[in-house]
Amino acid sequence: MWFRRDLRCNDNTALHQALRQCERVYVAFVFDRAILDPLPRQDRRVGFIHASVLALDRDLRALSPTPGVNLIVRHAHAEGAIADLAFQLGVDAVFANEDYEPEACARDERVRSALSSLGVAFHLHKDQVVFAPNEIRTQQGKPYSVFTPFKNAWLARLTEEDLEPRTAADHAASLAAPPPALQRPIPSLAEMGFEPPADEVQRLLPGSDGATQRLRDFLGRIDRYDALRDYPALKGPSYLSVHLRFGTISIRELVAAAQAAARTGAGTGATTWLSELVWREFYFQILGMYPHVVDHSFKPEYDRITWETGAEADAAFDAWCQGQTGYPLVDAGMRQLNQTGYLHNRLRMVTASFLVKNLGIDWRRGERYFAARLNDYDLAANNGGWQWCASTGCDAQPWFRIFNPVTQSERFDPEGRFIRRYVPEIAQLPNTSIHAPWKAKPVDLAAADVRLGIDYPAPIVAHEAARERTLARYAAVRGRQ
Ligand code: FAD
Repeated sequence: MWFRRDLRCNDNTALHQALRQCERVYVAFVFDRAILDPLPRQDRRVGFIHASVLALDRDLRALSPTPGVNLIVRHAHAEGAIADLAFQLGVDAVFANEDYEPEACARDERVRSALSSLGVAFHLHKDQVVFAPNEIRTQQGKPYSVFTPFKNAWLARLTEEDLEPRTAADHAASLAAPPPALQRPIPSLAEMGFEPPADEVQRLLPGSDGATQRLRDFLGRIDRYDALRDYPALKGPSYLSVHLRFGTISIRELVAAAQAAARTGAGTGATTWLSELVWREFYFQILGMYPHVVDHSFKPEYDRITWETGAEADAAFDAWCQGQTGYPLVDAGMRQLNQTGYLHNRLRMVTASFLVKNLGIDWRRGERYFAARLNDYDLAANNGGWQWCASTGCDAQPWFRIFNPVTQSERFDPEGRFIRRYVPEIAQLPNTSIHAPWKAKPVDLAAADVRLGIDYPAPIVAHEAARERTLARYAAVRGRQ
């Protein structure tokens, strides 16, 4: 059994199937150098994965009645490492869970062919999603490109059987200890060339225990999800995305928990949250069925947009990355991302929209920046979110709708609590001017000890003028193929 983005024993389809079908099952994980080598040495996600792998090893040892069982861990190129292990262990088959990202699919095809030349079968199972990208189709047999009908079809198809937990405990006796020649300690982060995690990562609570703790905490407040989820200063969302990303909790368990909460009176909070889980599957479907979205607009006409480029655009992009645009809510969001690796959903929308529709910069640059920084980075959701904000995607925000960063700030952070947390240099401004410090009375600026352009930037772009430029930019390509 080869673990990848499914770092748990509990309710893991490939593990369940391997244990059920095979007399002896070795368990393995590879820190894939093809993925890790290009990453910065401080990457928070590697710390999270490492801690989750240690937890998985502990959980597997506790699950097995046989002494000596442990997770075989390698730091190597996954394709070669899996084929080598399969050969050395003399196995008949390798089990894993499906991954839908194009690069992962290509890797799996190469692994399949390497294993096949050794006479070893490769079994992939659906686990990351309730319904795989090709399972929900319109009556004409096509993939959906609008969310609501997709969600309705998804809910109509859902049965109890789809959510049945795939337990490991019943067949845990099949777990086998690797032979002594293959026993090696799990490499430390330092041995793999990475720095130990910063404080924020420790607060991420790795492994299945961390995910369970997060879920328990969220279920205690799921009834308020709908009311609170748009306010970044409040504890509204579940903070489970990093766990879904690395599979320390199963999607089936979360859908079942949302349904149970809805039944027991958590009402719109639980049903809205369930919709968010369906959005996740919607974007898996889009990526799986329309892989051109990886580097092209879903709607081809928008590939013709002329984006801002050159030194001025580069400087604006840098200011956006650093949280130095002069728009406090945008800056607070980007600093949250840089400091913690998490970014509240409302602020993902506000910051992405600002980059594309205020600064006129290609959404793909922003998408790549998020990809490098988000702990929960997931190609399907990130690409879908960016194309939604840029109005280039399916079922996206209409092209002429342009978030006003000041109005968003007044609406979703009315008392400036979130801004004050991440933009301390303007924390002393009163609520009336914290959303747009350039409009503050000189007396307020003086009282708060803020010199615009020195302590905190003046806005790098004027919203109204940017809005006009964006409307023209989009109008120029509308209807052209
Ligand atoms: P909750 O509100 O508790 O939602 C629960 C789960 O539902 C999330 O963990 C996630 O798996 C799923 N979900 C919620 N909203 C969405 C959505 N709009 N699209 C797809 N799935 C969703 N989500 C990622 O997991 N990885 C990303 O790389 C990512 N990039 C994004 C980029 C942009 C520009 C935007 C607008 C959204 C992006 N999202 C991404 C979606 C969403 O912002 C995050 O899933 C959410 O903020 C994670 O926090 P949470 O777990 O507390 O969310």
